[in-house]
Amino acid sequence: MDFSLGDEEKAIRDTARAFIRNEVMPLEQEVLRRERDHQPGLDRSELRELQLKAKKFGFWGLSTPEEYGGMNLSAVMQSLIWTELGHTFVPFRFGGEADNILYYANEEQKREYLIPTIEGERISCFAITEPGAGSDAANIKLSARRDGDDWVLNGEKTFITNGNDADFAIVVAVTDREKGVRGGGTTAFLVDRAMGWRSEFIRTMGEGGPASLIFDNVRVPARNILGEIGQGFQLGMQWIGKGRYTIPSHAIGIAERALQMALEHARTRETFGKPIGTNQAIQWMIADSEVELEAARWLVLKAAWTVDQGTDPRHASSMAKLYGAGMVNRVVDRVLQIHGGMGYTRELPIERWYRQVRLYRIFEGTDEMQRLIISRDLLRGYTKIGGHLA
Ligand SMILES: Cc1cc2nc3c(=O)[nH]c(=O)nc-3n(C[C@H](O)[C@H](O)[C@H](O)COP(=O)(O)OP(=O)(O)OC[C@H]3O[C@@H](n4cnc5c(N)ncnc54)[C@H](O)[C@@H]3O)c2cc1C
Repeated sequence: MDFSLGDEEKAIRDTARAFIRNEVMPLEQEVLRRERDHQPGLDRSELRELQLKAKKFGFWGLSTPEEYGGMNLSAVMQSLIWTELGHTFVPFRFGGEADNILYYANEEQKREYLIPTIEGERISCFAITEPGAGSDAANIKLSARRDGDDWVLNGEKTFITNGNDADFAIVVAVTDREKGVRGGGTTAFLVDRAMGWRSEFIRTMGEGGPASLIFDNVRVPARNILGEIGQGFQLGMQWIGKGRYTIPSHAIGIAERALQMALEHARTRETFGKPIGTNQAIQWMIADSEVELEAARWLVLKAAWTVDQGTDPRHASSMAKLYGAGMVNRVVDRVLQIHGGMGYTRELPIERWYRQVRLYRIFEGTDEMQRLIISRDLLRGYTKIGGHLA
């Protein structure tokens, strides 16, 4: 069994690392200052400028197929890069990406939605959650009623990332109540903001925030159906599936950076005449964090590897998401504790991570939903204990 990275993987990771260190991390103090003043850390044009700079280094469209100008990286490589991105709290991500399900678009839709999203000219958001349907996504109610060549959408989506900035939304709606959500009764629509939906920003404990999207008789032409009629829920689950290895990959980067800060503080901060790192209480927090980080790293890489094998990654991804999200919360909490009062201030990014990573246990499937999936797979015999090594 070989746990080492190949030369090419190392080279790509190291180039990403150098870009983030040289071009993104220098903005950190300014980002903290702006966020303390309740402004976005980076505005849209600054993000785009950085993304175009990264493009010159070859970083454009990590998951985007080469025919659309992307890098088409393996899931393992994408995971490694998401970890590098986690090393900085500047709200930066590489450009040239589009929602994975936009590739189900037909040629005309690709020209109108997919390509402008990859190019960064249009912003998308993905909307399945509703006020009455979160974990229980199969309970969605937003309806689409056929009317001639159009569909008329009524209802509300909530907690939609980018919902306030998006030019268009990928909306999962109920098109056939009789069939039910799992029986082919839902459909995904590409809905421009100009078609008449509005958004309301939701303040959260994190920086930025999602939005509610309100659909009041929004008329959508039938040519804006994404994929097939009846395929909506399936596309929604595919969209969510990707986050189950990218979110914990990002969590690993955050935990690595935070733990490094804790090491430096433990070596230099003195109490009772000696560095705090000489106390077993502090050493144990460091040790537990390192062990959990290592465990999360291999769970996440295994999940990404499973994606690359083309086998069903859901079980491995649920384990990676559950453990990675919990791990980063525990590590950041310990790192805050090791920093004492300074950890609680807004001078350092630790309290910011503390607020940010709390979300990781909630979105794209809560801890409880991941546990439900993992145990159900075992109880129903879809997966053996020990997975593919069993
Ligand atoms: C910042 C943010 C961004 C988001 N972005 C998006 C987005 O872009 N698009 C989108 O569609 N959605 C998005 N979401 C929605 C997110 O996926 C949901 O919030 C999440 O799935 C949980 O749903 P809920 O909030 O309705 O909680 P609920 O489903 O009401 O759950 C409440 C609690 O009960 C627990 N629970 C529920 N059922 C069970 C059960 N059977 N057994 C045990 N425990 C259970 C849950 O785990 C949770 O702890 C976002 C949410 C947030 C906060």
